[in-house]
Amino acid sequence: MERWTRASTAACAALASLGGCATFAPAPKRAPNIVLFLVDDLGWQDLSLPLAAQPTEFNARYRTPNVERLAREGLVFTQAYAAAPVCTPTRAAIHTGIAPARSHITYWTLRKDSDTSAPWPGLAPPAWDVNGVQPEDTTLAELLQAHGYRTIHVGKAHFGALGTPGSDPRTLGFDVNVGGHGAGAPASFYGTENFAAAARNGDPVWNVPGLERWHGQDIYLDEALAIEAVEQVDAALASGQPFFLNFAPYSVHTPIQPNPRYVANYAHLDPREAAYASMVETMDAALGAVLEELDRRGIADETLVVFTSDNGGLSAHSRGGEPHVHNAPLRSGKGSAYEGGTRVPLVVRGPGIAAAQRTSEPVISTDLFPTLLAAAGLEVPHDGVARDGLDLAPILDGGSLESGRVLVWHQPHFWGARGPGIWPYSAVRVGDWKLIYWHAQHYFELYDLAHDVGESLNFATSDGARVRELARILAEQLRSMGAQMSLDATTGEPIPWPDAVDPHQAFRFFDF
Ligand code: CA
Repeated sequence: MERWTRASTAACAALASLGGCATFAPAPKRAPNIVLFLVDDLGWQDLSLPLAAQPTEFNARYRTPNVERLAREGLVFTQAYAAAPVCTPTRAAIHTGIAPARSHITYWTLRKDSDTSAPWPGLAPPAWDVNGVQPEDTTLAELLQAHGYRTIHVGKAHFGALGTPGSDPRTLGFDVNVGGHGAGAPASFYGTENFAAAARNGDPVWNVPGLERWHGQDIYLDEALAIEAVEQVDAALASGQPFFLNFAPYSVHTPIQPNPRYVANYAHLDPREAAYASMVETMDAALGAVLEELDRRGIADETLVVFTSDNGGLSAHSRGGEPHVHNAPLRSGKGSAYEGGTRVPLVVRGPGIAAAQRTSEPVISTDLFPTLLAAAGLEVPHDGVARDGLDLAPILDGGSLESGRVLVWHQPHFWGARGPGIWPYSAVRVGDWKLIYWHAQHYFELYDLAHDVGESLNFATSDGARVRELARILAEQLRSMGAQMSLDATTGEPIPWPDAVDPHQAFRFFDF
């Protein structure tokens, strides 16, 4: 990993008489610091940085100057995906390197031994891993910690269920946990409400833990977290260790609550949309606070910064205006099989990465596990555990991955909110073609993403040969990962694998 190698000046000087560093020195490795800035529910269009073919009205709406800065100084992925359309499975995939279909962490977690899946007529969810990531799982933080990193979690965790060890990031390889636990949303974003539910007589399960220092103060949750993150960076520098900062703001997840410091910038919008935009700007300011500290401490050029989201933007409820269009030109949003549910921003800046680059290579959040390990000079463990994802180093170096890559999604659950594609499903992308298999309907949709990013033209009935080929690939992938299909609620048996279904059979419509 030449990109991460730093030969020390002193060592070079000492070796000059022998011909210099380039020839003889076993260059001492300086492990880079790593900042993973994982925003919650941030949609592909929730930035002033354009990611679509043309700038959109959303790019004009939002203010994210720090993401724009990161893009100017690094590499923008325009076709990055979350491993799942909801929180926990993507977070688990990032931190274990295991895709949801394989890990059986296929849905979001909350309480120990409790299934959060909503009921869907005719189906039942399989016996998935309702407790999420646990200490016996090998995590990114644990591997970096063992490699000498100071490992810091700040913000939303949502790795493992409340009442289990995995709800505390410190059991998953983090030295420090600021504000993370098993719940996937804050009761309140306001310090004046102690980030707690009491002000609305809500369920205290959503109370953000451990931020008593900020209780009663006029501060927005992610503003407090940004200050805490900067302090943790300083503490890590004082310790002399390289650091892994996993900064996961609670924004822009519900509850959608305006930040009074920014909401006036959006007075022309529907009040709910103005509130949402103020949360986007708050998230960006938190990123900016970290970037500024890296500058101030002179470590920006030895720190890898990854900016991304855990699933597509919320559009089915709680937003202003018409639902399901907040990620346009993508279709639908969080929870959905369509691109709005899984396509997310991804920007990477760091040592050896050329500035102001863009790539349309399809990548997925599971790739971050091998990529961040490689950045730290580590290999994926040879421990007999099957993992997914690819080291993105070839792309970071300006090249590309091998062609023919297969991306798989698998969510045998109903998210509850109603909307396009928010149904139990499996899907596969090969090249520019995407096949969706609806579990309840035993029905396919086929889209050409190169010409139809909005998934409006379904080729499934006109291109049966391609459906069969992609269904075969999807089924082979799912079987090889040991994926659990949805269950037929009547028989209790798994529904058919996608290659066992006639692509021309009648659409089985379930009205619900
Ligand atoms: Ca999320």
